[in-house]
Amino acid sequence: LTNFPYSHVLVLGLAKSGTAAAKLLLQNNIHVRVNDMKTDENDKIVKELTTMGAEVIVGSHPLSVLESIELIVKNPGIPYENPVLAEAAKRGVPIITEIELAGNLVESSIIGITGSNGKTTTTMLTAEMLKRSEQPVKMAGNIGTVATEVAQTLGSDEKMVLELSSFQLMGIQQFKPKVAVLLNIFEAHLDYHKSFENYKEAKCNIFKNQTNHDYLVYNAEEPVVVEAVANAKAARVPFSVKRRQEHGVWADEESIYFKNEKIMARQDIVLVGEHNLENILAAVGAAKLSGATNDGIYEVLTTFSGVKHRLQYVEKMNDRLFYNDSKATNILATQKALQSFKQPTIWLAGGLDRGNGFDDLLPHLENVKAAVLFGQTKEKLKEVAEKAGIETVEAAENVEDAVKKAYQLSNPNDVILLSPACASWDQYRTFEERGDMFIQTVHTLV
Ligand code: ADP
Repeated sequence: LTNFPYSHVLVLGLAKSGTAAAKLLLQNNIHVRVNDMKTDENDKIVKELTTMGAEVIVGSHPLSVLESIELIVKNPGIPYENPVLAEAAKRGVPIITEIELAGNLVESSIIGITGSNGKTTTTMLTAEMLKRSEQPVKMAGNIGTVATEVAQTLGSDEKMVLELSSFQLMGIQQFKPKVAVLLNIFEAHLDYHKSFENYKEAKCNIFKNQTNHDYLVYNAEEPVVVEAVANAKAARVPFSVKRRQEHGVWADEESIYFKNEKIMARQDIVLVGEHNLENILAAVGAAKLSGATNDGIYEVLTTFSGVKHRLQYVEKMNDRLFYNDSKATNILATQKALQSFKQPTIWLAGGLDRGNGFDDLLPHLENVKAAVLFGQTKEKLKEVAEKAGIETVEAAENVEDAVKKAYQLSNPNDVILLSPACASWDQYRTFEERGDMFIQTVHTLV
């Protein structure tokens, strides 16, 4: 750690990221106190940290853990109402997450990606584009690997693509990505952030320390984003799915472009959906600014079939195109999926009944020629499907049965789409299990 002015640090929460943060601090000869509610004293990690010199307090959050503490590194999941955090805030003790520590280790190598939606897709695309351009790269952060751990093993010429949630960005002090990406800011997580202003501020922390040597890739078609980045000091690189951007990334009907250079034809891109086009443009911007080649980008966009269960292209079977959008557990997500196809579509939907209606799907069912419905909501969905004038509406036992029925109803060039608009818990443990069942059944079709 360089320019790290704290000598007594409290690590709050001992999940993977807290453990990594505590170890890093201990290695830098900083006094570390660790506090976790759930872990008990015989835990392997507790023993390991104690051996390394940490002071460990587990089982409760007494206010005494704050004694002589100058900085808190908290797990992003712990709410600010936690009594220790509330008291620390009162005393003016800064509260950060391990992202700050990772940033301290590898400042110049970070590509940071945030937004309410599209983070994982954009992070994966960016990392793949760099990889295929022979640029060494690692992914970390919200995507599943701990940033400080990855930062500690990062090669000198290696880049780190960091997926960042608003929780991780709260409390940022010096953290400064070389390239920041801001995809969109929708109303989200208001239980945690209390107000839209706070949430927006957390997202904007991604660029607050950037200078004119850094880049900020942002969505030029999102008014909230445009307003938020107006005072950014970084070189601004807008992306737009609607209009030409001389200094940014953009698309017209035929192609995608970086500044005035054509990158590739849109018809060669495997990912579908306007929202994914946004993610693609953002990734192209971040990747080009970090040294990716057009060939590398082309290779990725002609093969990347989507993050699993998110409008994921599964395969083409007897000229039918199968898509798995099991992650679509609400109406909004299913609207996006349905909008993504111009071909005749056979739509598989249904699941847990949360008491809501589905009329908001009506305007998006135009290309749906058949609906195969399952789960608790199948009757409700049937009403909407009939209102929309869909010719064939069938009930199925479950996803497996629905895939088989859909296939029987299909013709060449049809899309067969699982986008349930409902949670999976009435029939499946998780949306992943439901999506896996879809993929598995597709593979058994002959
Ligand atoms: P995140 O990591 O931010 O949750 P993902 O890439 O995993 O985002 O996508 C999750 C879902 O969010 C997708 O299935 C889609 O419904 C929606 N989504 C993805 N990208 C965008 C976008 N750019 N704008 C709006 N919605 C999006």
